[in-house]
Amino acid sequence: MKDLSIVIPLFNEEESLPELKAWIDRVLGDRSFEVIFVDDGSRDASWDIIKQLASDDTSRVVGIRLARNYGKSAGLQLGFRAAKGKVVITMDADLQDSPEEIPELERKIIEDGFDLVSGWKKKRHDPLSKTIPTRLYNAVTRWVSGIELHDFNCGLKAYRFEVVKAIEVQGEMHRYIPILAKAAGFDRIGEQVVQHQARKYGSSKFGIERFINGFLDLMTIGFMSRFSRKPMHFFGLLGVLMFLSSFSGFSWIAVGKLISILEGNPSKNITEISAFYVSLTGMVFGLQFFLAGFLAEMTTRNDTKRHNYQVSDNIN
Ligand code: UDP
Ligand code: MG
Repeated sequence: MKDLSIVIPLFNEEESLPELKAWIDRVLGDRSFEVIFVDDGSRDASWDIIKQLASDDTSRVVGIRLARNYGKSAGLQLGFRAAKGKVVITMDADLQDSPEEIPELERKIIEDGFDLVSGWKKKRHDPLSKTIPTRLYNAVTRWVSGIELHDFNCGLKAYRFEVVKAIEVQGEMHRYIPILAKAAGFDRIGEQVVQHQARKYGSSKFGIERFINGFLDLMTIGFMSRFSRKPMHFFGLLGVLMFLSSFSGFSWIAVGKLISILEGNPSKNITEISAFYVSLTGMVFGLQFFLAGFLAEMTTRNDTKRHNYQVSDNIN
């Protein structure tokens, strides 16, 4: 086992790679570490450069190449699977994150006992069009997750080995790894203010759609971390409440009608009362929610990972 694994997901970052590797070497010197480059289907010379770096430093460079561009989450997931270090660091390949931060991040994990330490780009070198939505996004994520981080999406993070093996980063969930970690039982989550450079080479790989997709993913993850093991508690409750309230409305109308018939009073047809349609629709929807809950329960029962509970200690 090595002391450190540096996982670097990258897509078209040919100019930055040699500089980044040299910088990491300078900072870490003769520590025991590995650098895992995950090439996310680059279309430039990135892979050739990684091959070169690996042949110059066989024992410390690992290269993984994806057959096409899957996205940053896929890169991180593969890197996590390959990592063999007691502490796993992730960083972007574009030289915006500084390797100088690594020793302090590592210290926080080893000595202060954090499971995860996230970088915080307090002073950013990005355009306003990015920094303003980012603040909003972080505020919402803090509120939903209850994790007090200022910069969830910072590429520079450090993890205890067990954390990266316990989580699965799929879709575009790299923005929410602290939430995934917390959901897996690793809740000692810390923060470190880190230097942030302006992008030196190439261009950002994410546009404005990052915010829309980001919020959709946040809804998914908020829902999954609360209800994925018990979907009926969400859908069932919603369905029962909706059905019962609509059913009582419906009964109210029906009983009223019955009484007026029995008493021989003239009254409106039921189909002329708008509340009748409202309660009818409510009953149908309520039943649908209930059924959705049942189906979701049946699906989770077939999930092969349903017994993946994170055990933190064992005796004997
Ligand atoms: N990246 C990746 N796959 C992608 C897009 C990006 O591996 O499909 C990598 C990219 O090469 C960089 C990191 O993810 O190392 C962060 O991307 P970028 O710098 O474009 O994001 P930003 O700094 O604008 O948030
Ligand atoms: Mg960047």
